[in-house]
Amino acid sequence: MKSGFLAQGVAIALGLSTMMAPQGSAETETNENESVIEATTEVSTEDIVGKEEDADETEESVEVDESEEEDEAEAIDESNADDLVPGYIYIYHHTINGIQFKLVLDLSDWQKHTKAEDLLKIKELFYEVYPQMYDRFGGYKPSPTDVEIKVRNYTNDEDNPAAYTTKNQIYLNDKFLESNPMHYDCMTHELAHVIQNGWAGEKVEYGMDSIESFANYCRFVYAYKDGRYNDMVHEMKDAEAKNVRDKSTRFLVWLDQQALSSDRDIMRDYFELCSDGSYTKDNWDKAWKRLFKGTKFEGKSIDKVWKMYLDSKFAYYSSKAADENSKSELIEKTDVRNYIKKNAFSQKYEDSLKAKKK
Ligand SMILES: [Zn+2]
Repeated sequence: MKSGFLAQGVAIALGLSTMMAPQGSAETETNENESVIEATTEVSTEDIVGKEEDADETEESVEVDESEEEDEAEAIDESNADDLVPGYIYIYHHTINGIQFKLVLDLSDWQKHTKAEDLLKIKELFYEVYPQMYDRFGGYKPSPTDVEIKVRNYTNDEDNPAAYTTKNQIYLNDKFLESNPMHYDCMTHELAHVIQNGWAGEKVEYGMDSIESFANYCRFVYAYKDGRYNDMVHEMKDAEAKNVRDKSTRFLVWLDQQALSSDRDIMRDYFELCSDGSYTKDNWDKAWKRLFKGTKFEGKSIDKVWKMYLDSKFAYYSSKAADENSKSELIEKTDVRNYIKKNAFSQKYEDSLKAKKK
């Protein structure tokens, strides 16, 4: 691989053998696939796209090319937490289902409030979560396959965001996980914003609320390690607490579960309409009618479907798990996360449909 080759060349030139990342995992499941890990240090690499403002003579980046080809996100190796050093930029490449996903982990502003182990978890989360979202939603425009996560420190301690996203760049507040342990899936939420790839607020039903509730829908469905952490710390409001459709994440999850079938993926189609911006805010009644076609909701208005949701048990089950090893009432009773993942369309599915048409 080109990047691996270049990286190795520079490593030899600088003689930084100590930067070689060992195989194996500090804390996660075993890796059955063999993979090559190369890590090295280079100065102002051209691989650091869009980093002009940070690129000075002394800044260094570490390029890690960990595999030839990976089929499963689970097969990704862990680096040692000790390998992560403040001031460096780490670049990872993994190919999953034929698509190469590049992660730039920018630690130039890292002051170790976020634990090194948690940064490795974030890297693992990226390769587990993002390719799944990409497979279902990423093909339209298409969404970026390169994502940069930058740890940020703020000079004042007030009103700083936990994390935010612009285009394919995610900024994580260094102090957020320190004071909110287990909230890894804030990154799943931010990665959903990357997948959204610039939805226009005036072309989705409820502006920012629609953008945020879709990101929270993704946070729930694609949560790291099947919700092991997410369900403990992040509750999806039930219909009693939040009887308003514009902010209801749970309604989207319910809709998905109700309307998925072998020839319709309603959330994929919802994503497409939001991406295309074919409907202005006040036209979304029509958009929903179109989305309901071919589902059990065909011919019904969105208000009618919302009432059906309010009458369902699904709307009221608790989505909170007691601890890492427990399931929430919602998952226990509906298994909705697995159901959606199993039945949702994928790029492979779409490609097979296209091939049939030919
Ligand atoms: Zn958000």
